Amino acid sequence: MTEARRIQIGTRVVKAARVLPSGAGTPLVPPLVQSVAFDYGSMDEQDAIFANEKPGWVYGRYGTPTTAALEGALAELDEVEDSVCFVSGMAAIATLFGVTVAGGGRIVAQEDTYGATRAMLERFAVERKAAVAFVDPTDLGAVERALLTRTALLYVESISNPLLRVSDIAALAERAHAAGAQLCVDATFATPVLYRPAGLGADLVLHSLTKYLNGHGDVMGGSVGGTRAEVAKLRERVMSDGAYLPPHEAWLTIRGMRTLELRVSRQCAGALALATHLAGHPKVARVFYPGLPSHPQHQLACDQYGDRGGGVVTFALRDDSKAAAYRFLDALELAASATTVGDLFTEVLHPATASHRRVDPAERVRMGITDGTVRVSVGIEDPYDIVDDLDQALTRV
Ligand code: PLP
Repeated sequence: MTEARRIQIGTRVVKAARVLPSGAGTPLVPPLVQSVAFDYGSMDEQDAIFANEKPGWVYGRYGTPTTAALEGALAELDEVEDSVCFVSGMAAIATLFGVTVAGGGRIVAQEDTYGATRAMLERFAVERKAAVAFVDPTDLGAVERALLTRTALLYVESISNPLLRVSDIAALAERAHAAGAQLCVDATFATPVLYRPAGLGADLVLHSLTKYLNGHGDVMGGSVGGTRAEVAKLRERVMSDGAYLPPHEAWLTIRGMRTLELRVSRQCAGALALATHLAGHPKVARVFYPGLPSHPQHQLACDQYGDRGGGVVTFALRDDSKAAAYRFLDALELAASATTVGDLFTEVLHPATASHRRVDPAERVRMGITDGTVRVSVGIEDPYDIVDDLDQALTRV
């Protein structure tokens, strides 16, 4: 390179977690260190490692070389100082909320988060008497009003699940910081390929690694990245709570992550083709996709995500009933009816009876998740095969 040019994300995912060369025989792939305990040269050395005076490993629940390699890679991709990994996205969220409310902190969260996140906050409010409020993050005035009460954490999803609302991270970070709160962005649906929220002012970036980052449907994991000091608080908690990501899952995630940019680019292109097709379909009442000009935050999505709308498309059937949605899902031949997103294969879900099953039905409908709402996570198959499959399934509705 003749001039200092920023290395692009497609290159960074391929390079991340590569072992630094230390002579002939250095493996290009980070080794899988599948060991719970570690040896020491002497008790003095062990003592220094336990006291954090020397780098090293103590015990599988406290940190492993392979999980640390993934954490380093995620910190690099998210452009934060440090990152810590958990056994699932929910373990990451539970640890973050747990640490926040343990210090008496109030949480203001996006009203239409992933259902389990919302249910967890409602439980925290009842069981731990935590101060919790919900807000529509696309209404900045409502966010400002919610933050008038002293708040520790503003928690939003960059592209919400399943209605695909887009949060303006720079504007939310400004509001949060003015009120003395931290902003955490669950960037699971956007991934570091679409954008890096820390660069827009987010203090913490959270991922369910289960989704796009691993991308192969064979690992559960979660991560939170931020400043070294903030991540240290979460690491301290996960060491005792036992939700640390084991090395085999970390190794598989590193391998999956290598193709993140390839997969997400193709999934975004497929999702745009599908959303455009569904928008003109007579059996479809409404399509939610940030890449379509009809989406309320389309311009924001273009600006924030470099003209890409993500790999998930949600739509509402004109026949807004559970029976119609089930007939559609049962008729799918290529796409799988599955409760996740971000995999190689196209996965379709009925939010009302799956991801948002535990949300109060009236509140769910108020949020906009009706019985005829269907969420499609577009895979890397030929997009037109998926369009054909959804078309034939729509004939059964
Ligand atoms: N965040 C979002 C946006 C999700 O969609 C999910 C799961 O679907 C999670 C977090 C939780 O992640 P996990 O299933 O890995 O616990």
